[in-house]
Order: sequence, then C-alpha cells, then structure tokens
Amino acid sequence: GATIGILGGGQLGRMLSVAAARLGLKTHIFEPGADPPASHVAQALTTAHYDDTAALTGFAQSVDVVTYEFENIPTSALDVIEAIVPIRPGREALRVSQDRLTEKTFLQDLDLAVAPFADVTNQAMLTEAVARIGVPSILKTRRFGYDGKGQARLTSADNIDHAWAQMAAQPAILEGFVDFTREVSVIAARSAQGEVACFDPGENLHRNGILHKTTVPARLSAAQRTDAVLIAAKILNALDYVGVLGVELFVTDGGQIVNEIAPRVHNSGHWTQNGCAVDQFEQHIRAVAGWPLGDGSRYADVTMENLIGADVENVAALAKESDAALHLYGKAEAKPGRKMGHVNRITGSPSS
Ligand code: ATP
Ligand code: MG
Ligand code: MG
Repeated sequence: GATIGILGGGQLGRMLSVAAARLGLKTHIFEPGADPPASHVAQALTTAHYDDTAALTGFAQSVDVVTYEFENIPTSALDVIEAIVPIRPGREALRVSQDRLTEKTFLQDLDLAVAPFADVTNQAMLTEAVARIGVPSILKTRRFGYDGKGQARLTSADNIDHAWAQMAAQPAILEGFVDFTREVSVIAARSAQGEVACFDPGENLHRNGILHKTTVPARLSAAQRTDAVLIAAKILNALDYVGVLGVELFVTDGGQIVNEIAPRVHNSGHWTQNGCAVDQFEQHIRAVAGWPLGDGSRYADVTMENLIGADVENVAALAKESDAALHLYGKAEAKPGRKMGHVNRITGSPSS
C-alpha cells in the first residue's frame, strides 16, 4: 500500500496516522520536536528541522504523497518536497491561509462576507485603521497565531499604544468586532476527482481563546445550514483543494461571516469520530491518497469537549461515563493551555 508523509507530529498527525492505518496505509511523520504524539502510531519518524534539506529529501523520497497537520510550513521546505512528491492539499491553500491578510483578501474576492479589515504594519496605520473600522475591534498578527494568541482587543481608541505593543512589531490586521449570535464551523472535504462532501456544521464555544466545546447539531435553520455548506464548497473549489478544510463562521442576523479557514483537519471536527461512519481523519486520508470520499453523514448527536492542561486529570472519572468516548493524545506533560485529549459524548439520535 501507499505511504503518506505527514508534516507535523501533534495530535492531528496522530489521528491521521490512526485513520491511515485502518485503511491499510502507512504514515511517515516529519517533526522537529522530540517524542511527538503521532510517532507513537506512525510507521516512521524523521526528527529534523524544516531547513534540513537532506532530511526533507529523504522523507519525501520515502512516501507517495505529503500532507500536513498545520499551515505554517516554511515555503523553502515545501519547495524541496514538491520537487519529489505531490503535496496535498496543494500549495495555494497554504499560501492563502498562512497570512490573515492574504486569507481575508482571498475570501473577499470570492464575494464571501468577512469582517471589515485593514493592513496594519505600524502604529500610524493602526491609528488610521481604528478611525476607519472603529471599536470594538481586534488586532491580530498576520502570521503564526492560534488559540487566540497574537491578538489584542481594542475597546477604545485610547488602547492603540498598548495593542500595537502587543504585536511586538509583527505585521498585523485590524478586524472589526463581529456581533455574532453563534460561532459554527464546517468541516469540508474535496477529493482529487473534485467531489465535495461536508460534515454537518458544528457549533463552537471558546474559552480563553481556545476551543472548549463543539456541539452537533448546531442551532441553525435549514437555510443557514445550506448557506454554511455552500460557503465551504465555494472555498474548496476556488482552491482546487484536495483534502479536509475547516471553515470557521460567525452567524449573524445578516448572514454568515467567514472568520478563518484551516487547510487541514480541525479541532471542531473531532466529533465526527463518534458521529459518522467516516470521520474527518479518514476523509482527509482518503482524499490525499486519491480515494473516493466516504460517507460522512451524521448518525448521532454529539458534543466534543477538549481536555486542556489539568482537565486530563479527570480521565479516571471520564472513563466511567458510559456515553463518553475518550481520545487521549499520549502527551507526557499537562501544561496549561495544552490540548491533552478530548471527549465525545453521544447525546442522542439525530434530531435534525
Ligand atoms: P484558532 O485556534 O481557531 O486558529 P486563532 O488564534 O486563529 O484561533 P481566531 O479564530 O481568529 O483566532 O479568533 C479566536 C476567537 O476570537 C474566535 O473564534 C472568536 O470567538 C473571536 N474572534 C476572532 N475574531 C473576531 C471578530 N472579528 N469578531 C468577533 N469575535 C472574534
Ligand atoms: Mg486560526
Ligand atoms: Mg479560529
């Protein structure tokens, strides 16, 4: 069978490896850090940095296709890999999603609604942006932000100095604050043959900038559900995408606004492991391996709750819950804010 290379050995890489193994496929992980969660289940591990051309070359030569679990892969590393083996999802998805300014512009050019935004590379530009967009608003670093890191909220024009200082001179964007009624996400997949399939949208709740809980079904009307899926499909097709993509949406009375996209399996899609015959990890592996997509229709109502930091100390109690499916990532140290696992609870039969 084929071997799939995965850039990044965190929990997403681990769950992709498990899904690949179930399909009789092997995985080979590339990861700079020691003892990555994915290496416990993959067939091979390369421990090296992304500037190690020899290591990248050896890795690429050992696999049939390369995919990734995070979007911040250096361009130079992608160049080395792509000269040897295909990268799926393709380079365009990475180019667009590595930078919030590029991403917002791309979405706007697709005629999708986004929050008002402005390019901010110095304090004077921030002052101008605040004058145009107003407050409340959020300043975000263009690159490398996740779990709400690299963000500063502006509630008054008096906060400009403080907010800019928090960017530590990195290029940023200012976004108008969206007064949403809910946050939802669509986990969408596209095969190499161009078929598109979306999982049912999930409703997301964040705590301290980190995803806390996803609930399916989301509280959406049938029309809103259709809108969400059409938005995701439009993005997939525009990128000629192959694999699973996460699309985060704000639901407002005036329609849905795209917050951000992630060119990979997504934390808010973990519920699919216990709510669908084919989950997001298998769907991604199928797509990148050139297989047809599987059946991702939802057969249960599910809540997914992240186990973050010390939450993982409750494992013994969670293990006794009859309707709780535990997913633990095998990380040694439960640091604050670190995703240690998640628990999926079946809450009923599909109610919508
Ligand atoms: P992730 O871990 O999902 O990649 P991130 O660090 O990229 O997160 P965002 O998704 O941009 O950050 O923002 C985190 C959360 O902050 C959002 O899910 C939402 O709750 C809130 N938020 C972000 N931007 C806005 C906005 N323009 N208006 C209102 N709320 C926002
Ligand atoms: Mg993000
Ligand atoms: Mg987000």
